[in-house]
Amino acid sequence: MPNTKLTLLVAEDDDFQRLTIVKLLNDLGISDVFEARNGEEALAVLNQQDNPPVDILITDLKMPRMDGIELLRNINQANYSVGVIILTGMDKKLLTVTSQLSKLNKTKLLGAVEKPINLQQLSNFLTQFSNPSPKQAANFANTKQYAFTVADIRAGISKKQFKPYLQPKVNLKTGKIVGAEALARWLHPEHGVISPFAFIPLLEQNNCIDELTFCMLEESALACKMLIEKGLPLNLAINLSLVSLNNPDIAKKITQLFNSYNVDPKYITLEITESAAMTDGPIALENLARLYMSGFTLSIDDYGTGYSNLQQLTRIAFGELKIDQSFVQGFASNDQLLIVVASNIDMAHKLGIKCVAEGVETKEDWDLLKSMGCDIGQGYHIAKPMPVADFYQFTSSYKPLEPVPIVVNQKSKKQRKNNAARKILVVDDDQFTRNIIERVLSTLGFVQITSVASVASALSALEKSQFDIIITDVFMPDINGLEFIKRIRTGKTFAKPETRIIILSGMTDASAVGAAIALDVNGILVKPLVTSVVDQKIYHVLSTPFKVNSSIAYESISTDVKKSDGQKTIAKSF
Ligand code: C2E
Ligand code: CA
Ligand code: CA
Repeated sequence: MPNTKLTLLVAEDDDFQRLTIVKLLNDLGISDVFEARNGEEALAVLNQQDNPPVDILITDLKMPRMDGIELLRNINQANYSVGVIILTGMDKKLLTVTSQLSKLNKTKLLGAVEKPINLQQLSNFLTQFSNPSPKQAANFANTKQYAFTVADIRAGISKKQFKPYLQPKVNLKTGKIVGAEALARWLHPEHGVISPFAFIPLLEQNNCIDELTFCMLEESALACKMLIEKGLPLNLAINLSLVSLNNPDIAKKITQLFNSYNVDPKYITLEITESAAMTDGPIALENLARLYMSGFTLSIDDYGTGYSNLQQLTRIAFGELKIDQSFVQGFASNDQLLIVVASNIDMAHKLGIKCVAEGVETKEDWDLLKSMGCDIGQGYHIAKPMPVADFYQFTSSYKPLEPVPIVVNQKSKKQRKNNAARKILVVDDDQFTRNIIERVLSTLGFVQITSVASVASALSALEKSQFDIIITDVFMPDINGLEFIKRIRTGKTFAKPETRIIILSGMTDASAVGAAIALDVNGILVKPLVTSVVDQKIYHVLSTPFKVNSSIAYESISTDVKKSDGQKTIAKSF
């Protein structure tokens, strides 16, 4: 049974759904329930000092003004310890992204459920919260460990206890270290090295973040100067808070600071979170313009966690886009994340700016980013943030990681024999791409490959033969790939509806990919193709059980998609 003393907050814009949940909670004996119709109202409840602390938040993802994803990010930044239950009425795939987001959080994700939630589910979640596993309990304890006051933090800043820890940024093509991000650490005399989560939200809330910002800027200027003098002219990146950007003379002060240390702003990048970059505040925009004009590089941080549009981004002269780590970690083995990463790289390049992937923890993710043309990588795979002196040592002795030859999954002979027995149909109007796929497939031991240039030819090929896998492009003249898949899934071709299908996607085709996911494609391959990735993907697709839905489930999916460069491919009606 759940603990009836819990305090809950229900964030849901639909009145009926919200009231239903409140009623279910009351039925479970819980009477302390706050309600919110959007993320903003939910945050207001959490921020209200007089309220009893909220134990559990139940939140919808799609809400007006501030949606659930943004709400979770804010909660994460403010370091609230709160259990979270995510409600979703729509795209299950969004949940993948959201649970990635909440992995970062100090919040505890109790679970995600499709609406409508029922009494039993609710009761299970709440019981789980009341009796956390030892590991969950330890996590929670960690977040509550320090209860610093703003006065403590400010005293620490004035005693120069705050230092930048530098984390290398590496050019993925050359393997060379090109710079570092300066991340604030409090070297606390009693508690040791303290992470930003324990002090930044408090400083921001109390309008004192500038004190830390200037301490970081000064220390970074010194570090930058030292590195240049020692023959390492590297670029250092410092995080700027939106709160600071609203200070009318911050740009002038930052510029003066670097002038006074004789450090050219070309060595400095200022990272601004995507949500801050969406500001309409004239002061912030003017500050950013001034900083750019002084020669600083501006970087969009945590890209993908806000909902900026191209127009908002182009108002600011960004030189760099950092894909948020919640999309990067483990993306090589997650189709949805892969698409997010691919389209972000593409977006950066369309804007003519460099793309940085942060939070790269594994070699697999690193190699894939490289093959996808991402410019810079940062993450534990190279190094964790470290004190300035250690960074100097690290960088001066750093040897670029050897470019590793792509090792094709040379499994046993049996595997290759299996591949030889498989029939594959490849559909792509571009001959060059077809040739590449054929080459990659034959390297992997496939011999029965049928390759056609249009959906019409593919449909004829299906009349003659069944295929184990169909690999199809999306954008093709006449009938597009999505319409082709829809016809297969709804049983309107000679192929079995459950035929395994992999789509070939360009970097930009997010909406097409959304439709493809709804059509239950079994995998996505992003161009340019990497042999080892194709190998893994095909192996995965063939070895994962798959059941197709009834055709009605697919009938309403729109296959009328636009290529993002404006070219429109319309599916012919059947
Ligand atoms: P951020 O700007 O997104 O910085 C990246 C964070 O990811 C850092 O956390 C870094 O240590 C961590 N990280 C880097 N590589 C990996 C990886 O491979 N795996 C994982 N799991 N994590 C990785 P950190 O240092 O705890 O900083 C947290 C946040 O605090 C920063 O996020 C930034 O938003 C903020 N912050 C840090 N220093 C400052 C500062 O001086 N001023 C302001 N305004 N914010 C700061
Ligand atoms: Ca950053
Ligand atoms: Ca970030």
